[in-house]
Amino acid sequence: MNEPHSKRIAIIGGGITGLAAAFRLNELQPSWKVTLLEAQDRLGGILGTHHQDGFLIEQSADNFLAGPNMPYAEAVCRRAGFADQLLETDKRYRKALVLSGGKLYPVPDGFQLMTPSKAWPILTSGLLSPAGKLRLLRERWIPPRTDDADESLASFALRRLGREAYEKLVQPLISGIYTADPEQLSMQAALPQFVQMERKFGSLTKAATSGSKQAQTKAADSGARYSQFLGPKLGMQSLIDHLAKTIAFERCLTNSPVSALRRQETTDAANGGSWRIATSQVQDSFDGVILTTSAHAASKLLQPVKSSVAESLAAVTHASSTVVVLAFPTSAFPEPLQSFGCVIPASERRQILAISFTSMKFPGRAPDGWHMLRIFLGGALQPELAKLSDEESVHIATQEARQILQLQGEPQVLKVVRWADTMPQYHVGHPNRMATLQQKLAELPGLEIAGNAFAGVGIPQCVKSGEDAAERLIQTLTGLG
Ligand SMILES: Cc1cc2nc3c(=O)[nH]c(=O)nc-3n(C[C@H](O)[C@H](O)[C@H](O)COP(=O)(O)OP(=O)(O)OC[C@H]3O[C@@H](n4cnc5c(N)ncnc54)[C@H](O)[C@@H]3O)c2cc1C
Repeated sequence: MNEPHSKRIAIIGGGITGLAAAFRLNELQPSWKVTLLEAQDRLGGILGTHHQDGFLIEQSADNFLAGPNMPYAEAVCRRAGFADQLLETDKRYRKALVLSGGKLYPVPDGFQLMTPSKAWPILTSGLLSPAGKLRLLRERWIPPRTDDADESLASFALRRLGREAYEKLVQPLISGIYTADPEQLSMQAALPQFVQMERKFGSLTKAATSGSKQAQTKAADSGARYSQFLGPKLGMQSLIDHLAKTIAFERCLTNSPVSALRRQETTDAANGGSWRIATSQVQDSFDGVILTTSAHAASKLLQPVKSSVAESLAAVTHASSTVVVLAFPTSAFPEPLQSFGCVIPASERRQILAISFTSMKFPGRAPDGWHMLRIFLGGALQPELAKLSDEESVHIATQEARQILQLQGEPQVLKVVRWADTMPQYHVGHPNRMATLQQKLAELPGLEIAGNAFAGVGIPQCVKSGEDAAERLIQTLTGLG
């Protein structure tokens, strides 16, 4: 029997979004009974860590953004007593390289994702032609857009920074994160901070040099704002395991794919709840449900509940990628590595998207005398490469890494991780489509959806999405909504 003010909540999906939602429910409504149902035999979803021959191998994310503009993941770590497990990236190597004409160049100091904050490193960089540099430095005088319509990354970056900076810097740095087609990637969904910078300051350069919090530029950083990234000392799985241990669940069941979700017209007074859920192990009723699976899995479950919501979720396309993890002895490198990795512009016509020098970011990722590289293939622009066999992927990754980094010898192949249809693609208009979806959900009180398809694919955005869903559900079920 349910206690009078207690509610029974089911969370479907045990990735970081589901765990963040459960943690928030625990914090705000400690008497509510939370059941988490996860399809796989482990929690973590996309996140996971493997240990092999002294290497700590992340199967997907190896760090997450923190800092005042994106505090959500760091904040939940702090509240859950995990802050002492977080490491900052190694200060000595906070740089990214970019391939151009077959040669590697450092991303100019102070150029962060698409914001040129310092003129001198751009002027002295060998990456851009004189015309490309001048065009980039003219950014502060390019008039801002005046209407509110969404636009693609390609359109925004070409307009503000010019073609050369777009092709050589912005496309590889940003498309790498979203494995996206920049002609389709929505600025408002994926990179709203840059839209805001243009709106508020009239230019990205002016925003970056204004000293405002929004700009948040650290002088020595280049590429992906590495000074603001954190990673768990023992890997992402340790964060997942810590959260799972800290949350007081009524039940936390793995190997429990939810096969049916139904809204009941009459509530089950004994067990509480107007939502009926079925897995092979559980048939139960709940007052509220938070659905944190991928958009496509959520779409299947919602088809019988509300087909219009299911169709909007099914319409979110996803890109596929493969991560090949290789280890090379340090002696294989012609000179010591001094950065966190290199990105490969589409214009270089190579078969890989990026190489992360993973063991340079945090200590303890590779045994002494070894470097671990994570090589990314596929994405929205080269979908066929994500369909290759493991052997073909390893062959391409090895060949490309050897050529680009001028490596000698054979690597130790540590892992091949395939991510089929995993990365949601935020196409232009995505925020409006998701807002419409949320409006339709209002007709289903007690049901919330969260995850990486809505307002950011990064871990902090997933945490926020899970927390927001928990808070909306509390408002609905306590009558405060
Ligand atoms: C290769 C790669 C690299 C990345 N790198 C970074 C990075 O460096 N930094 C960063 O911040 N982000 C990164 N990301 C993105 C980030 O890892 C993901 O967006 C995030 O982990 C998604 O978490 P989630 O909980 O929303 O979804 P998921 O992790 O997909 O969790 C959803 C869960 O739902 C379960 N599920 C599905 N169907 C059902 C069902 N019917 N019943 C019960 N359970 C079900 C699934 O098994 C899964 O466990 C990366 C992603 C990839 C693929």
